[in-house]
Amino acid sequence: AVAARAVDVWKVYGSGEAQVIALHGVNVELERGHFTAIMGPSGSGKSTLMHTLAGLDSVTRGEVFVGDTKLTGMSDGDLTNLRRTKVGFIFQQFNLLPTLTAEENILLPLSIAGRKPDKAWYDTVIATVGLKDRLGHRPSQLSGGQQQRVACARALVSRPEVIFADEPTGNLDSRSGAEVLSFLRNSVRDFGQTIVMVTHDPNAASYADRVIFLADGQIVDELWEPTADAVL
Ligand code: ADP
Ligand code: ADP
Repeated sequence: AVAARAVDVWKVYGSGEAQVIALHGVNVELERGHFTAIMGPSGSGKSTLMHTLAGLDSVTRGEVFVGDTKLTGMSDGDLTNLRRTKVGFIFQQFNLLPTLTAEENILLPLSIAGRKPDKAWYDTVIATVGLKDRLGHRPSQLSGGQQQRVACARALVSRPEVIFADEPTGNLDSRSGAEVLSFLRNSVRDFGQTIVMVTHDPNAASYADRVIFLADGQIVDELWEPTADAVL
């Protein structure tokens, strides 16, 4: 099954002299249970592609699907609801709420959507991400790596169709980054989670099972089972 799909997606910003074609007819299918990295130079369209697949940005032309749901043409309300229920996000800056504990942060998307976590699944996520003795801590009491693992648990706990991770290791030292990447890779291997990650880091990309290379708004290459050397 396909977890997310872009069909001839164009994204144009501005008009006239100021016009920028950020995506140039992109076609991509992201199979369920795969970990895909998106790489490419700054300005090549990585963020735009991720944002359109996640329903954060509209497309100028083409169609985007998450699972069987077509995002193109959906109302803003339906898109918001889709992002809350079918999509998980991990950001470079962690984006945890400072006044909430780790546990409250992890459960927040579910409570906003009016859903309760499945207890067994919640316990599995907490054990896998290694946060059992940190659940009562606030973000300021946690290291960067611990904060990002809280954000990973928050993304995974609702079992979304796809998790989108935007430079998830960009603010971490290499050891903490490796812990986060291992967790992401294990959640694909053990739970069949689908993950899409934008990264500049070939070492981070080597944790994925597929790397897609963008240049000037187009997919110019891809690589399966990448090694860090092959990505460079
Ligand atoms: P990347 O993530 O690979 O750095 P982006 O997707 O952020 O690339 O940007 C692709 C192109 O679209 C760049 O030329 C960028 O300047 C432009 N762009 C992105 N967002 C906007 C926006 N909101 N308004 C105008 N231009 C934008
Ligand atoms: P990222 O590092 O995640 O690609 P950026 O710092 O490039 O994010 O962009 C931050 C925000 O500004 C995003 O919402 C993006 O859409 C917007 N943006 C990016 N490039 C441009 C641009 N050239 N003009 C206007 N907005 C832009």
